[in-house]
Amino acid sequence: MSLDHPQAPPSPPGRPKAKTAPSGGSADASARSVGASIFLAEPRGFCAGVDRAIEIVERALAKFGAPIYVRHEIVHNTYVVGDLHAKGAIFIEDLAEVPPGATLVFSAHGVPKSVEREAEARGFRVFDATCPLVSKVHVEVAKLHREGYEFIMIGHKGHPEVEGTMGQLDGGIHLVEEVADVARIHPAQTDKLAVVTQTTLSVDDAAEITAAVKARFPRVREPKQQDICYATQNRQDAVKLLSREVDVVIVVGSPTSSNSNRLREVAHKLGTEAYMVDSADELQPGWIAGRARIGLTAGASAPEILVRQVIDRLRALGAVSVRTLDGIEETIKFPLPKGLKLDQAAERGLGHLR
Ligand code: SF4
Repeated sequence: MSLDHPQAPPSPPGRPKAKTAPSGGSADASARSVGASIFLAEPRGFCAGVDRAIEIVERALAKFGAPIYVRHEIVHNTYVVGDLHAKGAIFIEDLAEVPPGATLVFSAHGVPKSVEREAEARGFRVFDATCPLVSKVHVEVAKLHREGYEFIMIGHKGHPEVEGTMGQLDGGIHLVEEVADVARIHPAQTDKLAVVTQTTLSVDDAAEITAAVKARFPRVREPKQQDICYATQNRQDAVKLLSREVDVVIVVGSPTSSNSNRLREVAHKLGTEAYMVDSADELQPGWIAGRARIGLTAGASAPEILVRQVIDRLRALGAVSVRTLDGIEETIKFPLPKGLKLDQAAERGLGHLR
């Protein structure tokens, strides 16, 4: 996954304010990054929507027992999906795979209306783990549709969140993935057009595409608050700060994770070499060879245990200290759906992933 930016830009004057953690173990004399420092982005890793989605599956397993069926990967992370699978979650794409009377969880990305209707018709016990910030977009689409709006959706074709949002209506949502697509769409009218976006896009790319939409459709309605979520925004801001301070950035995240891919791209666009790893094993020593300052962050679906494992590997390769850059403290927590209350003993067994 090497990128063609062999050199990081020079660090600006002044170093980041950083909280210093205890320094790492002894350096491996044979490693080529002996003495390197690790800089952790803040915030990184789980967001409130991912945390809630995982908790819903864990609670459903504790309350109703295995198996629990989950439509699509609950969040896009190999480790999380493997962990929940080991506990009895069965991940499916088609509701035909779910037996009658089963418990079904919708993933954090949301589902089209047709899936909701099918689940209801087939009588499953359903828990909806759609992130409330994705549901907010669904509600806005439904409301504006009743007012006669058509939509331009900025997002990635085939991503389940995009399919879920576009599937809120039977038509009238035009997908654009890049600036060039804006010229190709043909809405039935231009008086009532609104923009919606996938929540996990690059903030900068979305702004560029939105500008192109406005240039072609000057009266287009934009969301009062942007649809890109706080967690995506905060992690991209943090990786921008990180990228300016380090020689190389490592992003922990799965290849399917939109927001993790965007973090790597953001670092890359700033001219900093950047790589994404799904687990510590994927980290290649050559990426950090001779680098004194190694940046580390994680996408919103990547658990902190993976970050710790990458730190251990970097230490084994010679890194000697870990510092966390200052950043926004996130305190958002979303309420759980009804029907998942547990007794005290079961409560205590929850949450090692989170
Ligand atoms: S990345 Fe944003 S939209 Fe997606 S689950 Fe997290 S908070 Fe929700």
